[in-house]
Amino acid sequence: MTKPVVAIVGRPNVGKSTIFNRIVGERVSIVEDIPGVTRDRIYSSAEWLTHDFNIIDTGGIDIGEEPFLEQIRQQAEIAMDEADVIIFLTNGREGVTSADEIVAKILYRTKKPVVLAVNKIDNPDMREMIYDFYALGFGDPFPISGSHGLGLGDLLDEVAKNFPKDEGQEYPDDVIKFSLIGRPNVGKSSLVNAFLGEDRVIVSDVAGTTRDAIDTSYTYEEQEYVIIDTAGMRKKGKVYETTEKYSVLRALRAIERSDVVLVVLNGEEGIQEQDKKIAGYAHEAGKAVIIVYNKWDIVEKDEKTMNKVTKEIREHFRFLEYAPIVFVSAKTKQRVHALLPVINRVSENHSMRVQSSVLNEVIEDAVAMNPAPTDKGRRLRLYYTTQVSVKPPTFVVFVNDPELMHFSYERFLENRIREAFDFEGTPIRIITRART
Ligand code: GDP
Ligand code: GDP
Repeated sequence: MTKPVVAIVGRPNVGKSTIFNRIVGERVSIVEDIPGVTRDRIYSSAEWLTHDFNIIDTGGIDIGEEPFLEQIRQQAEIAMDEADVIIFLTNGREGVTSADEIVAKILYRTKKPVVLAVNKIDNPDMREMIYDFYALGFGDPFPISGSHGLGLGDLLDEVAKNFPKDEGQEYPDDVIKFSLIGRPNVGKSSLVNAFLGEDRVIVSDVAGTTRDAIDTSYTYEEQEYVIIDTAGMRKKGKVYETTEKYSVLRALRAIERSDVVLVVLNGEEGIQEQDKKIAGYAHEAGKAVIIVYNKWDIVEKDEKTMNKVTKEIREHFRFLEYAPIVFVSAKTKQRVHALLPVINRVSENHSMRVQSSVLNEVIEDAVAMNPAPTDKGRRLRLYYTTQVSVKPPTFVVFVNDPELMHFSYERFLENRIREAFDFEGTPIRIITRART
């Protein structure tokens, strides 16, 4: 299922990031640098009643050195490209400004639904300030207050009304969907071309999906694959495409639609901070991950180099211990053919179900080997473990008191599960629940 995407647009200081944070709520992310730097987070999942969706704060996408008007113009373009529903945000205290009119003019070009919100209506007496905004031509303005959390329910009801009908699953279950993510110039599109240029690869379809994504379907040895968002890897020449935030946004969207994520690193430049961040998102999203070290052809190497680089990768990507590393060259095609079997393998592991009886034996043996922690004389008791879902494999451990479960013990159990079953390439999740 693809979640609908909502984008917030509007000139600076109308309250976009305030509203974004209100809607997103408290979501902790292990890859965010510094909590509180609101503008670092421009894309998130969110919920309203029964609706799950994703939301973009376009105000956080700065377009280089462009002048202010050009920035908001580009941000509105991004919203029109990426979103299913657009929230056009204005400031009731200042009335309609010429910058609002410029945003409106751009948004007139879109066929996508636009919901107009007037922010900073902090109390009911101020409601009459919204009437001016009818002039923008987007129907009834919704009065809201980001700082007081007022009116958001009505606004989100209207937004949700405009969500596209759920078209169900995009691709059948047995198709392996993967994406290549990484900084610009690591070699993503070269790798795609190398894949598709392999002997016996039959490209069946290059499908334009909604929201500007282009996926490539192909078959190899009777297995169907879809490369998610190949368009995102090829530049179309829009100004904002080269900005870092936009490429992260595209990567997040591609990750979400994939089963397997190939995190592509550039052997020429080595590992950089941004690589970790991008990989962190794939891990958090619970996707199978393969680390692809590209441009191996230009790395100066001797017989020790591969071990050395492997060690370095493991040090930088501690949270991806489970991810296989493949050294390739898109240019010489060295080992590109070796990637497909790895994709097949991790994809299988990602959707593997294990038998409850075997699983519980593994857990019992683990507890016998390393007794569960105690706290103030009380010992954690593990009653029963069951796998509740796949993609990623998720286990529920029923215990006497979840408070007694420590992170380190959870890690220990995870490692035992990994030793017993082949979960290479996939994150696994362990949830501790009280037995009722
Ligand atoms: P952005 O540039 O559009 O993302 O705007 P921000 O979210 O950074 O908000 C700009 C300023 O407006 C900040 O000082 C906010 O605290 C303030 N602000 C946001 N929402 C409200 C509101 O509902 N009422 C009032 N009075 N101030 C608000
Ligand atoms: P993208 O931005 O990640 O899609 O990267 P591209 O595929 O456009 O590649 C960026 C540059 O790196 C291009 O000049 C490619 O020819 C070059 N490149 C890509 N893969 C390799 C490789 O394996 N070896 C070498 N030497 N160059 C490569």
